[in-house]
Amino acid sequence: MTNLEFDDNLFDERLIGGNIDAPEIQAAVTRILQAIGEDPKREGLQRTPERVARMYAELLSGYHIDPKAVINDAVFEVKYDEMVIVRDVEFYSLCEHHLLPFMGRVHVAYIPDGKVLGLSKIPRIVDLFARRLQVQERMTRQIADLIRDQLHPQGVAVVVEALHLCMMMRGVQKHNARMTTSAMHGAFRSNLATRQEFLAMISKQSAATI
Ligand SMILES: [Zn+2]
Repeated sequence: MTNLEFDDNLFDERLIGGNIDAPEIQAAVTRILQAIGEDPKREGLQRTPERVARMYAELLSGYHIDPKAVINDAVFEVKYDEMVIVRDVEFYSLCEHHLLPFMGRVHVAYIPDGKVLGLSKIPRIVDLFARRLQVQERMTRQIADLIRDQLHPQGVAVVVEALHLCMMMRGVQKHNARMTTSAMHGAFRSNLATRQEFLAMISKQSAATI
C-alpha cells in the first residue's frame, strides 16, 4: 500500500493554468530578477520568467480542481466498518509565508459507515490541497474535512509529516526540522483506543522505512 501511483490525469493540460495569469507572473519575475541586481537578459535567465510561470501553474493547480469531481466517481457502497489506512502518501506544497516548498508524507485513516473511497483517490485529494499556497496545519485539516464531508465515515484521521525549506534554508538552519500535524474527527477524536491503533500503525510503518 506504500507505493501508491499518482494519477497522471491530475496534471493534464486541462487542469493546469486555470486562472493563473502567466504573463503577469513573467513580468513580476523579471522585476524580481532586476530588483536583486541580476540581468534578466543574460543567457541563463532569459527564459526563467517563462519557466517560473509554467511552474506556478503546475504547482498551484489545486485551486482549480473541484474536490467533489475528484471524489464522486469513486465512492462505493460497501458493508465494511474496519479502519482503512493509507500511509506514506508523498506530497509537495508551497508555504504561503515564503513561497518555499514544504514536503513530506500524509497518512490517512477512516472508518467507513457504508461508503468507501477508491484508494487512488487519496493521493489525488492530498495533491488537490498540496498544490496551493499552504500552511501545513490547514492542509491537514482540509484533507480530513473533505473526507468527512464526502464519505460521512464514523471517523477520519490525517497525520502530515513534513520538512519545510523555509526553516531549513533560512536563519538558524535546522536540517532535520520535521513538523507533524494531525486532524481527527469522529471516532478518532472520541475513542482513545481507535486513535492509538492508527498512530501505532503509522509509526510502525515509519520505523520500517527508515
Ligand atoms: Zn515558510
